Amino acid sequence: NRRVLLKSRPQGEPTLANFDVVDAPIPEPKDGEYLSRTIWLSLDPYMRGRMSEAKGYAANVNLGDAMVGGTVGQVLKSRNPKFKEGDFVVEYSGWQSHAVSNGAMSMKLDPDAAPLSAALSVLGMPGQTAWWGLMQIGQPQARETVVVSAASGAVGSVVGQLARLHGCRAVGIAGGKEKCDYVVKELGFDACVDYRAEGANLFKALRAACPKGIDVYFENVGGAVQAAVVPQLNDFARVPLCGLISQYNEMQMNPGPDWRLLLVKRALVKGFIVSDHFAEMAGFWKEVPAAVKAGKIKYREDVVKGLDNAPEAFIGLLKGRNFGKLLVQVSDD
Ligand code: NDP
Repeated sequence: NRRVLLKSRPQGEPTLANFDVVDAPIPEPKDGEYLSRTIWLSLDPYMRGRMSEAKGYAANVNLGDAMVGGTVGQVLKSRNPKFKEGDFVVEYSGWQSHAVSNGAMSMKLDPDAAPLSAALSVLGMPGQTAWWGLMQIGQPQARETVVVSAASGAVGSVVGQLARLHGCRAVGIAGGKEKCDYVVKELGFDACVDYRAEGANLFKALRAACPKGIDVYFENVGGAVQAAVVPQLNDFARVPLCGLISQYNEMQMNPGPDWRLLLVKRALVKGFIVSDHFAEMAGFWKEVPAAVKAGKIKYREDVVKGLDNAPEAFIGLLKGRNFGKLLVQVSDD
């Protein structure tokens, strides 16, 4: 069993030295459990929080334990009547090639309904995050302007396309020309601002892209991007506070937006964690899979081959090196 363990806690940016890649015996399922081989491992920004000691919304990974993470696997042996050999499952096996599970957090997948990896991207946790945050907190109304940061990524790409489907002007913020071109030309956003190229001109570039101001800001990054957006919020704007990826490696948080502006604009800012809402996804299942099938919501996956390459890929995710949902192919589909 190939496993990637947390060896030490990062100070600032994670490095390869924070991880240990080891071989261990393949575990045997006990009564009520099954053994699966991992096919796809999802790498997600929240994993940075699990590596640290700071208190988060979920338990941190202990030193010497395998890194946690969402996976798609195939059942090899089962002593649980709900899962049989050969079944495909979306599960939470972490950074390892094999795992036993009691199935409490596992869901069977139909390999003919959609590519297996989609269960970790557009049809999985990131897609549900986009839908829940935008629809439940953002409450987009036709002809409003919706801005989303990390726009080419797993969550942001779905936010902007959903906003368009609901009659809004969708404006992305992303790093680099290639990502911005993709967001506009492939995903159909109305505009995309390259925050890396604009630098200190970000405020102006955003104003040009949002002539009527910003009604919904789906926050994924924080920092300088947030500082450029908040003064451009319209009265009664809604801000689904989804992530602050530019801050995850910082030893000290930046001071955040000017609260006076939020008061004057009567803005709603609401943080949310998607796992609190997995039971409230009826609207997601009604809307998103059909839109994906019809090509109205497109998605892109950035696939890294081999579990041993997971640490390097994860380090890159926190610097914007990925282009699309970052996945590790651990074994063949
Ligand atoms: P992405 O696929 O969007 O990948 C991360 C992207 O973030 C990078 O590609 C990069 O895009 C951007 N980024 C990385 N570092 C920085 C930086 N220093 N400054 C600005 N941008 C940066 O990831 P996800 O779609 O999975 O996640 C997006 C956000 O959503 C994250 O903040 C994540 O924590 C959050 N999230 C929250 C959930 C919740 O329940 N609240 C659930 C899932 C995700 P670029 O090159 O364009 O800058």
